[in-house]
Amino acid sequence: MTTLYKKSIRCSVCGDESEQTAIGSTSIFGSPDLDTRPPEIKRYTIHKWVQRCSVCGSCASCLSQTSAHAQDVIQTSEYLTQLSDSNFPELANSFVCASMIHESNGEWSAATWALIHAAWACDDASQSPQAVTCRKRAAAMLRKAQASGQTLSDQPGAITTILVDLLRRAGELDEAAKVIQESKATKTEDTVIRIMEYQTELIQANDIGCHTIAEALGEETDHGVNESKPARKRWWQFWQ
Ligand SMILES: [Zn+2]
Repeated sequence: MTTLYKKSIRCSVCGDESEQTAIGSTSIFGSPDLDTRPPEIKRYTIHKWVQRCSVCGSCASCLSQTSAHAQDVIQTSEYLTQLSDSNFPELANSFVCASMIHESNGEWSAATWALIHAAWACDDASQSPQAVTCRKRAAAMLRKAQASGQTLSDQPGAITTILVDLLRRAGELDEAAKVIQESKATKTEDTVIRIMEYQTELIQANDIGCHTIAEALGEETDHGVNESKPARKRWWQFWQ
């Protein structure tokens, strides 16, 4: 069950005060996807993960806490074009715009997540080419985050598994296979190894579709996901 509530938010860029809907609580049932997208019900709260100011067009997870350089970014033609790009779902535009603000502030990790969320918004709208575009941008941003020492999660190996899935689902199978190969030089936990083995199988089958962590760990049963497996629990709880 998801609970929502209304909250008055003052945009930190233009000062406009608006009523926004926030998530009080939600829950998950099942397995996240390989790129960490949560299962139901949280999956469908994605519309509440980004706010857009109706006055100045600033986009952020919370409009009252926009990054420092937002004022400059939201006036650029690149931002304004993206904000109203009719080729993308409006929700995806908001996430991409939020990522542009994070990027201008050197927040590569937050920018990566916003682009991943944009890809999910495109998935939901069945706009595959746009989802591919978002995933390619997310993969490039993730590498920027990696290079600067910013991490997307504290879960060991998670950043590499996310990168592999972004590349695979963007159709960049050779690149995804290369990242898996390179990751073998790093000592990592068994769960990561199993996810990478499963990704290798998908790549060899030219499968660029959506799959879950439960499938990778062999925890998908005829009755749904086996909720009691310890490895699964460890990986799940981080993303809740
Ligand atoms: Zn504003």
